[in-house]
Amino acid sequence: METIKYQGTIEQFLCEKATANHVPINAILELTPLCNMNCDMCFVRLDADEMKQKGRLRSAEEWIRLGKEMRDAGTLFVLFTGGEPLMHPEFKRIYIAFKRMGMILTVNTNGTKIDELWADFFAEYPPRRINLTLYGKDEETYQRLCHYPAGFQKALRAIRLLQERNVDVKVNGSITSENVEDIDELFSIVDQMDTVWKFDTYMYPASRERNILFDEKSRLTPEDAAVARVKLMEKRMGKKDFHTFARQFLQRSKAEPGECTAGGVRCRAGKSSFTVNWQGMIRPCVMLSIPEEPVFDVGFQIAWTRILQQFENLRTSPECNACTVRKVCQTCAACAVLETGRFEGVPEYMCRYTKETIRLLKTTLMNEPGVGEDG
Ligand code: SF4
Ligand code: SF4
Ligand code: SF4
Repeated sequence: METIKYQGTIEQFLCEKATANHVPINAILELTPLCNMNCDMCFVRLDADEMKQKGRLRSAEEWIRLGKEMRDAGTLFVLFTGGEPLMHPEFKRIYIAFKRMGMILTVNTNGTKIDELWADFFAEYPPRRINLTLYGKDEETYQRLCHYPAGFQKALRAIRLLQERNVDVKVNGSITSENVEDIDELFSIVDQMDTVWKFDTYMYPASRERNILFDEKSRLTPEDAAVARVKLMEKRMGKKDFHTFARQFLQRSKAEPGECTAGGVRCRAGKSSFTVNWQGMIRPCVMLSIPEEPVFDVGFQIAWTRILQQFENLRTSPECNACTVRKVCQTCAACAVLETGRFEGVPEYMCRYTKETIRLLKTTLMNEPGVGEDG
């Protein structure tokens, strides 16, 4: 399977045009907070009792009505997520209705529900891609991190069943303190299965509607996360491309200081991209709980206009705007709020993660015989 190309494509053109014109082209719909797993770092998962205290699942009729309003407003790309979205009792109805509306669909799943019947369903109604998260190299990690010991084999089976039916699968992952030792084997699994993959090493400290706050121990220190990040960069690219990439990265990390004034939100959140959570709140991004509007009550167009207005006025950190490594730093509005409690805050975790990544890349290049930072 190949990486879906974005640079230089019609999709890029459409998304940039949508962002400039504030057309909500990109949607993430969180169908349910329920999940059969219970990962330490999850920011969405609730059990059935917790869910009842905080709201209710929206029915297929409600999602489909919303989908029609979204389509009329310009939405084209829809990602279904959760919790585990396949656990929404009317998932198939919602999915088929959105497909018939002409939406381009992606599904996030942990894969453990996907048996032959589900795989046949996705073969009959192909998504653009299924993003399947692989949490570790064996049942032991699944037990420790996800508290679901049978998950590993089920996830592998799902990848195989989907691949046999030519359904596009991408393997996602999050590197945490519980699975950081699994990286080599995770890489060899995805390599053998010939899947596109992406493992994140930065974890947003979000807890959203959950009763329990984010457990800081579930993520790596910024320095350890940077080590994992650099290791994965090398695995993804191979040695030669990695060195070229490292040199380019280091070049970009030496920007002139920018203006020390508050900046605006740089990504597409709240400009052409939005999320609707399981309770029916539209938000600019899955990581943020503010601003939000009750989209099922006020209707899509009104809710989207309100989100646009509120997000347009948000200002991010002057220090980040001026920072010389800003071009390689992954900080964003959600990172600032979740790490510091303020959109204008400077996320210390991200500073350390970025600076350690730079230091490690420099060291790698310096230690390579005949290869220096400047080539
Ligand atoms: S599988 Fe995903 S949704 Fe379920 S508990 Fe884990 S992180 Fe949360
Ligand atoms: S988070 Fe830190 S490293 Fe990143 S841009 Fe802001 S100040 Fe610079
Ligand atoms: S997580 Fe950050 S970069 Fe991603 S959509 Fe949200 S604000 Fe933008």
